[in-house]
Amino acid sequence: MHAMVLQRPGRPLKLEKLPPRHPGAGEIRIRVGACGVCRTDLHVVDGELAEPALPVVPGHEIIGRVEELGEGVEGFRLGERVGVPWLGWTCGVCPYCVTGRENLCDRPLFNGYTRDGGFATEAIADARYAFALGEAGDDAQLAPLLCAGLIGWRSLKMAGEAENLGLFGFGAAAHIVAQVIRAQGRRFFAFTRQGDVRSQEFARSLGADWAGGSDEAPPRALDAAILFAPDGRLVPRALSVTRKGGRIVCAGIHMSEIPAFSYDLLWSERQLLSVANLTRQDGVEFLSLAQRVGITTHITRYPLAEANQALADLRAGRFDGAAVLIP
Ligand SMILES: [Zn+2]
Ligand SMILES: [Zn+2]
Repeated sequence: MHAMVLQRPGRPLKLEKLPPRHPGAGEIRIRVGACGVCRTDLHVVDGELAEPALPVVPGHEIIGRVEELGEGVEGFRLGERVGVPWLGWTCGVCPYCVTGRENLCDRPLFNGYTRDGGFATEAIADARYAFALGEAGDDAQLAPLLCAGLIGWRSLKMAGEAENLGLFGFGAAAHIVAQVIRAQGRRFFAFTRQGDVRSQEFARSLGADWAGGSDEAPPRALDAAILFAPDGRLVPRALSVTRKGGRIVCAGIHMSEIPAFSYDLLWSERQLLSVANLTRQDGVEFLSLAQRVGITTHITRYPLAEANQALADLRAGRFDGAAVLIP
């Protein structure tokens, strides 16, 4: 098999030929058809997340077909199409796992971070954390649903019943959750980097009521906001345009420092929350919703060997929607 391997944070990924791997008990080996590139991959490669299991193969938006079943695997058959997300394994016995909050597990494993992910021709996953996908849709189009879509969904649930939602950072996750918001008959307002006219146009094309720079005021106060951009300065910014009782949901795994702000911004029962990881229940809910709503992802395809270029383009904001690697 071939994989793009991270030997050390801060260094480019290297295309390597690795010895064949076989699934252990409870695992499946997948022939990768496509793997999305997520901002979290960028944080891993840049060393902004503390404990990658180096060397590691990044990638946690994996779409592929089951090619080998490990001992005791139930519920999957050879050739079946599956999706593998960020959550790779949980302990099942910690206080979080036993209360339905496996996303907060004390000893989790994450694909593409603490176990090898999908920037490769093949991947091995714990079958219990893989989703059966069915045959509808193209591998590359589906890939961004596995993290950008799922995290967006979990964030949206956490934002509550808001009628007017602010989306800060209009990339892969926002462009998917925007379609869910519209399908639910709610409104969204897109905030991008100042002067990023292209992303603002993209947001309008997906039904934004308004799109502008994050320094601009939306035409009406927000009921809730979701922060996808990893910029801590957006926290007080979002609070300042959100009405009383509103929620600010931070969706990223990493964010730059949040500057000090006046308590007035939080006062009046505004809530500041973060979203961590996903549960398998989120996946089941969202993947069926995505099919019902008919989510269309906007993707840019890159050959697997050009993963570094895809990451660089993500960092620089050179494409709309999501990048997807094709082995
Ligand atoms: Zn646990
Ligand atoms: Zn991700």
